[in-house]
Amino acid sequence: MADYFNQYHLKHFAGTVAQCMEIDLPKEYAPGISWLSKILKTRLGGSAERAILFHAGGVGMNMWQKYTDIFAAVYSNTSIAFPFCSTENSISPVAHASMYTGLMPSDHGVDSYSPQPLSCSTLYDELIKIGKHPVIIAHKDSSFLHLFRGRDMKVYICNTGYETIDTAIKVIEEEDYDLLSIHMLDYDTASHSCGPEAKDAKNALDFVAEDFDRIVSAAKYCESRKRTLISYSPDHGQHQIDTEKGGHGTALPDDMNILHFFGTI
Ligand SMILES: [Zn+2]
Repeated sequence: MADYFNQYHLKHFAGTVAQCMEIDLPKEYAPGISWLSKILKTRLGGSAERAILFHAGGVGMNMWQKYTDIFAAVYSNTSIAFPFCSTENSISPVAHASMYTGLMPSDHGVDSYSPQPLSCSTLYDELIKIGKHPVIIAHKDSSFLHLFRGRDMKVYICNTGYETIDTAIKVIEEEDYDLLSIHMLDYDTASHSCGPEAKDAKNALDFVAEDFDRIVSAAKYCESRKRTLISYSPDHGQHQIDTEKGGHGTALPDDMNILHFFGTI
């Protein structure tokens, strides 16, 4: 069977969020998908005043194809499923660097697990420039912590998935953000240790979907009722590398094809 790859590269993610928030990214960055941002803005009733971007690490589109029911909690909070193609080196720092800039890896310069921060402008930098407050909440092993280091923004470092979600809910309830990035590693970690379709990995995927539901529920009950863009946005998938383990970093469709979900409050 032929290998099929999703049409849109992840580099179009930042531009799409920027279009929804009506902010500008550098002209040389990949544009947003304008029909998608138009639909989302219509559903929002105007531009997004806030965004909550939930990054479920390592969740490939094949998991959605094989275990659709696990995503019920994601469907209940979103209205559009959109297929993206990960970066060719399908690892978190490379993918997140493209997702938060609009650049290919050859242009943003991240092609490995190197701890260097990005030197080019990012979606966060463009928000900070206009007085907005982006916030990162991520596990201590997350690539978000070194990629975006040195910016004038709040970064919460958490030890567990539970702590990540509890911290995110607190920030949402305090309404102390304009754009919130949450990085969950639970499924990626479980898949590495026991395989992408193992029971423990599927349980982790299920928990992460429920976590997304908790995050969106918290945002729905905020007093200010600001127009909020929501996304469930994996970085790459995983493939089985032997009988007991999963991995990624290749150009296999299992690593490359991912599905994002967008919603509005
Ligand atoms: Zn991984």
